[in-house]
Amino acid sequence: MKITVIIPSAGSGTRMKTNKNKLFLPLSDGKSILSHTIEKFLTHSAIDEIIIPCKDCDRENIQKILSEFSTNKNVLLVKGGETRTDSVQNALNITQSDIVLIHDGARPFVTHEVIDRVIDGVKLHGAVIPVIPPQDTVKESENGYITKTLSRDSLALVQTPQGFVTEKLKYAYSIISPNEIYTDDSSVYEKIGKVFVVRGDKNNIKLTTPEDKPKEIHAGVGFDAHRFEEGRQLILGGVTVPHDKGLLGHSDADVVLHALMDALLSAVHLRDIGFHFPCTPEFKDISSVELLKRVLKMLEEKQAEIINASIVIVAEKPKLSPYIDVISKNIAFLLGIPENNVSLTATTTEKLGFTGREEGIATEAIVSVKV
Ligand code: MG
Repeated sequence: MKITVIIPSAGSGTRMKTNKNKLFLPLSDGKSILSHTIEKFLTHSAIDEIIIPCKDCDRENIQKILSEFSTNKNVLLVKGGETRTDSVQNALNITQSDIVLIHDGARPFVTHEVIDRVIDGVKLHGAVIPVIPPQDTVKESENGYITKTLSRDSLALVQTPQGFVTEKLKYAYSIISPNEIYTDDSSVYEKIGKVFVVRGDKNNIKLTTPEDKPKEIHAGVGFDAHRFEEGRQLILGGVTVPHDKGLLGHSDADVVLHALMDALLSAVHLRDIGFHFPCTPEFKDISSVELLKRVLKMLEEKQAEIINASIVIVAEKPKLSPYIDVISKNIAFLLGIPENNVSLTATTTEKLGFTGREEGIATEAIVSVKV
């Protein structure tokens, strides 16, 4: 018995607030949503074939994801349609399997157990969907007022994969009119037959908005040191601190923001500031606040959210305690996080080492980032 899974992947990322296909957005391990979804079926022994309806512009990206797996399964890309219904139809046209499963590309947390239940159900009942019971009370409303409280016992939240005897689903699709739009395949099948339900999984969620993406907290660490030089301004955390010397560097040598930027980049696996801002004329004497803005942009592109920063400045001189508060507040402002979430400490090395000899300043920063 041959089993095919169709993974419609021709959607856009409008609700995910991204201008590219949301299925290419990374989960916290850096692998894309679609890569996780595909992997669940590639590693399931009962699946023989995977068909992915997609837009032409996404083909190359999907091929790249597929190249990361070694598989003996038949994997095909077909042209995605304007609607999900069109996309499924295009895939159905080319499959010869006995059973077809249809799974949302945006449900990367499906388990082999759910897939098994659906396949077993199709063999017995011909058409199956996985469902979970609603946790909340469900009501109907009209013009702002509740009109009815529904009985939770009869309600089901519908997930995928939905499974069907291929020939029957092909028939159901053949009798719907071209402009009818269906949000799932069992709605199409209901035109010709009964659909059985099996237990889904509460973690088998569909990632629709950025908030749906489960996030992990990643820590990042950064360290920097610069030597003193006469005739330069001392800038720490974007604040000019009165001193008879400043720090020497290709940029403004803000040792605090440098350590902080490295910590931020480290937390999101994006190398370090030396990699992004090399000692080229472009960055000569540039304000580190400017560089930090670029780093924050990189984090934003990864949809990373900064939680807190802890920074320790190691300096024998100048005495920093009068400036701790203002530097700390400025860093919170630059990062766009509450002042309470930035902690700045200053210490000396009791005259030991280069900081103890007042040759320079060192800084270490640790951040936590939701990613
Ligand atoms: Mg530096």
